Amino acid sequence: MLNHTPKEIYEKKSLVINPAKTCQPIGAMYAALGIHGCLPHSHGSQGCCSYHRMHLTRHFRDPIVASTSSFTEGASVFGGLSNLKTAITNVFTIYKPEIIAINTTCLSETIGDDVGSIIQDADVPEGKVVIHANTPSYAGSHITGFSNMVKAMVTYLAVADKENKNGKTNIIPGFVNPGDMREIKRIAKLLGVPITMFPDTSGVVDSPMTGKYEMFPRGGATVEDIAAAGKSDLTIALGRFASEAGAYELEKKCKVASSVLKTPIGIEATDALVMELVRATGADVPYELEEERGQLVDIMTDTHYHYHGKKVAVFGDPDIVIALTEFFIGIGMKPIHVLTGTPGQSFELEVNEMLNKAGVEGRVKSGGDLFELHQWIKNEPVDLLVGNTYGKFISKAEDIPLVRIGFPVLDRSVHSYLPVVGYKGAMRVLEMVSNALLDKVDVDASDEDFELVL
Ligand code: SF4
Repeated sequence: MLNHTPKEIYEKKSLVINPAKTCQPIGAMYAALGIHGCLPHSHGSQGCCSYHRMHLTRHFRDPIVASTSSFTEGASVFGGLSNLKTAITNVFTIYKPEIIAINTTCLSETIGDDVGSIIQDADVPEGKVVIHANTPSYAGSHITGFSNMVKAMVTYLAVADKENKNGKTNIIPGFVNPGDMREIKRIAKLLGVPITMFPDTSGVVDSPMTGKYEMFPRGGATVEDIAAAGKSDLTIALGRFASEAGAYELEKKCKVASSVLKTPIGIEATDALVMELVRATGADVPYELEEERGQLVDIMTDTHYHYHGKKVAVFGDPDIVIALTEFFIGIGMKPIHVLTGTPGQSFELEVNEMLNKAGVEGRVKSGGDLFELHQWIKNEPVDLLVGNTYGKFISKAEDIPLVRIGFPVLDRSVHSYLPVVGYKGAMRVLEMVSNALLDKVDVDASDEDFELVL
């Protein structure tokens, strides 16, 4: 099919082919898994819930649990009130979670179920909590769904207490892997900054094999942690698209100051996070972090000729793509095609500004699709493609190496355990980029040009 993608680009006003995003509830479900003892609940039909669980399971290679309101014809016509009330009772009775986080689906949104009111009327056991986020999939993307669920955590759970500040800094990590969340926590610990991270899926979707199935693994921010986020001094939101709304809600509700930074991929964005954390405590940057940064600079010096001047196409989730674009510009690459499936004009403005500053001429699009990205590449080829697994079709059709970063990565393992954020993560990105380009050099080399040392 991809070999029939035409080179000629024409405007598609009401058609998306191979979307570079997925639907809102997946992001909401992922965020909900970052609360300890939470059972995400999908208010809609079983098919939606199965698809969302399957997609997350394939990316994380861990069982993803969620329940569903199991809509059939009756609920579709008369509304899902009765299904949801029964589901809440059954879920607390059978699975005993601490909290249920409900996301809506296209169907329940179209019907117009007032989930907030249904929850108020539901049979919720003492000490247990139910929260909800509206996640209609015909708007936004899985990143919007993640953002909406994080905002719902604040709306439902955070408690203001100006008199008893806890001296902590909240970090909303964005839609990143648990390996990234662990790395951000490690950096904060090295700096001696007490933090509350929410959502926190480390220890949930990367939990160890113990021989015993645990429906609710150890990880995740507790309901109490999120409630106490209202007593913190500062919230650092990593990634505007996924985390900003939650931080602003906390500022509005509990007067906790907020700082919105890029997802800390690459040296510049990691520096910004480190400096923000340093400002929070006035602590010195420990030698261990300085050493890591120095190692990263050393690696960049040693390897720059592998990637300097290479043209790259970057696609995926906006926060990840913005940070990667900044990093690639910083190491002398040329991100000439930059695309996200998540809508948002501010993405185009921010990336265009970065490209203009660097003197790189590129195409930038939000709300775009992979069909169009493929057309761009046919018109102006690149040396490297960076994005999620769905890029493999373009990679094969055009014989361009693909570096898999982002969500979902369905055809490789282990990636979710290893960070791309922080100085260590930047080293990993450099290794992946360099190796992909060098592998291509080896594969394409004629016998007489095949070199031992590159
Ligand atoms: S797009 Fe809508 S109908 Fe399709 S899986 Fe997502 S929520 Fe369900």
